[in-house]
Amino acid sequence: MSAALLSLLGLTRGELCALVEGWGFKPVHGGKVWRHIFLEGRTDWESIDAIPATLVDRLHQATTVGRLPITRETHSTDGFTRKYLLGLKDGHQIETVLMRYSGRVTACVSSQVGCAMGCVFCATGQMGYTRHLTTAEIVAQAWHVDQILRATAPEVPVLAEVDHDSPHHRHERLRNIVLMGMGEPLHNYDAVIKATQILREPGGLALGAKKITLSTVGVVPGIIRLADERQPIYLAVSLHAANQEQRAAIVPVAKKWPLDELMGACAYYAEKMQRRIFFEWTLIEGENDRPEDAHAVGELLQRVPGQVNLIPLNPTTGYGGQPSDNAAAKRFQSILADYGLPSTVRQRRGIDIAAGCGQLATSDDSG
Ligand code: SAH
Ligand code: SF4
Repeated sequence: MSAALLSLLGLTRGELCALVEGWGFKPVHGGKVWRHIFLEGRTDWESIDAIPATLVDRLHQATTVGRLPITRETHSTDGFTRKYLLGLKDGHQIETVLMRYSGRVTACVSSQVGCAMGCVFCATGQMGYTRHLTTAEIVAQAWHVDQILRATAPEVPVLAEVDHDSPHHRHERLRNIVLMGMGEPLHNYDAVIKATQILREPGGLALGAKKITLSTVGVVPGIIRLADERQPIYLAVSLHAANQEQRAAIVPVAKKWPLDELMGACAYYAEKMQRRIFFEWTLIEGENDRPEDAHAVGELLQRVPGQVNLIPLNPTTGYGGQPSDNAAAKRFQSILADYGLPSTVRQRRGIDIAAGCGQLATSDDSG
């Protein structure tokens, strides 16, 4: 049996240079290949300037880029959201969402096939856990969105940002990544963090540190590790309830990492990183959208600098709850404001193609 091919999308520039050097070539050629993939978005090694033919052969024999084929593509009717079902080598599928907010393109990236955390209102949780994604599979989703942008002419060219000599600037750029697709990113810590390093690398996709946001259900050791390692990304924590009993009923993993431990980890993170945390709150009618719930959030977040993102519940087949209406969301926001807490209500986008928060799920017959 032939050995599995190495996916180049999972390598940092330094790793690719070391690989090429280990094969007996100059490391600079590794840098050229890396740039070809991440800056030029190309995979035709033969066209790289002054690259040895024997290295091209070796790349063909031992490696693959790790591109994930599109199994299905859906566009929302408002034109702002596109959802891609991408095929993995072992036959599983994942979803990646391209979103356009005020002219910026954000990729919502998955970190696992399914999810082990079992939040009752989430379609990914309802499908259960299958496996972690590799670094290459995580990076490939962002690279895929970048490929889509390269193939699409910018609708409104922003002249100040166009540098005609730079291949990077001939197309609209991917501006933000949110690790908010399928799966719990801190359950797959190493692969996810390495992917964020590759996505940030200068000379490649070069996403700024402030452009990557990781959302966690509240994996306490992972939050502490992010702070200890000073990982330069933003953190969002899915709260949904401000007391332990209420939270454990909808977020089962709260039994393992109770609310007081979670808030302790958040305070530690905010202090160490000197940065506020985004708290996500899925608004469920009659469940967690009452004035007393908003007051409880206000009290709870006194110790931690934060901002609350309210997400009216998106429908999923496995949960009967209803989204809060606008009036309830507004009332919630104004109570938070009384506590000095900034908040936003997430625009409902992509619901017609089930690309909203918590709606991502795949099943064997979905392709
Ligand atoms: N596992 C991570 C990231 C993926 S979920 C986490 O839980 O944070 C991304 C966000 O969507 C989370 O805040 C999650 O609570 C929210 N979400 C899940 N199901 C939802 C639904 N049906 N409607 C609205 N938001 C939902
Ligand atoms: Fe997993 Fe996040 Fe969905 Fe919970 S909300 S089941 S942690 S993906």
